Amino acid sequence: MGFCSGVARAIDMAKQVLKFCGNVYVIEDVVHNKVLMRDMYGLGLVKVSTLEEIPDGASVMFSAHGATPEAFARAEEKELTIIDGTCPVVKAVQLSVSEYSKFGKKIIIIGNRAHPEIIALKGYAGGASCFVVYDEGDCDLLPDFSGEEVLYFTQTTLDAQHVDRIISRLKEKIPTISRESKNNTCHAAIDRQAAIRNVSKIVDLIIIIGSSYSANARSLEEVAKNEKVKKIVRIDSEQELDLSIMSDVSSFAIATASSTPKNIVDSLINFLSQNMEIEIQNFEQKIEH
Ligand code: SF4
Repeated sequence: MGFCSGVARAIDMAKQVLKFCGNVYVIEDVVHNKVLMRDMYGLGLVKVSTLEEIPDGASVMFSAHGATPEAFARAEEKELTIIDGTCPVVKAVQLSVSEYSKFGKKIIIIGNRAHPEIIALKGYAGGASCFVVYDEGDCDLLPDFSGEEVLYFTQTTLDAQHVDRIISRLKEKIPTISRESKNNTCHAAIDRQAAIRNVSKIVDLIIIIGSSYSANARSLEEVAKNEKVKKIVRIDSEQELDLSIMSDVSSFAIATASSTPKNIVDSLINFLSQNMEIEIQNFEQKIEH
């Protein structure tokens, strides 16, 4: 539970800048949580569809998922003050992709091609041929890379077991794939997924608090489904919880995406305590990296 370091950094940064600069423009939500972003827009963040809508000389904040090099260049041309909220973990992947692509290597990104992190990451592959795959079917559609140097990189918040399956498929298809390839799944995501796997053996229901567009909330749902948890529900806040789901449930777990504020968890627990008898236990696990 709680913010990961990348989300905490971006939100802190946005709050500080809003204090000193007044309005700050964004093209993407700084982090993928609807409730949190509604509050941030209330504080003076202004959402626009393109950089062109931002008045020259104003301030722009790029989200924790990063932005393409072209977006940074255009913001500079418009003399915008740039607040770079890119998570350092994401930034490190961008730098690796940019570095390797300079040497003409082919890049395969395992990720969701519509997600802002992957749209930005593709931008760092520059002129190099870059392919995005999400599942085994996409791997089968890749061209023949005989004689080419190929590396893969991965979206930071996917289900780690899903990523492992795709890496195995890539290795079958491209046996010469470079050892310098990286599985970039972030520990903030892996740890939550591991917690879901562990707790799924002892609960009838998992309540995931996170937004539908949060990749790591969706990964937690995927993990819980794969673990065959009897009931799974994803909500943005306690207001979306239909209490009928609690019938026949003797024990349940609450897990959150890495962009879910802790006060939403507290509100859910208060709501449940007011409406039924529940006993709360903290589930602690030791994770070794
Ligand atoms: S989940 Fe990991 S990669 Fe994503 S913002 Fe948090 S720390 Fe960064």
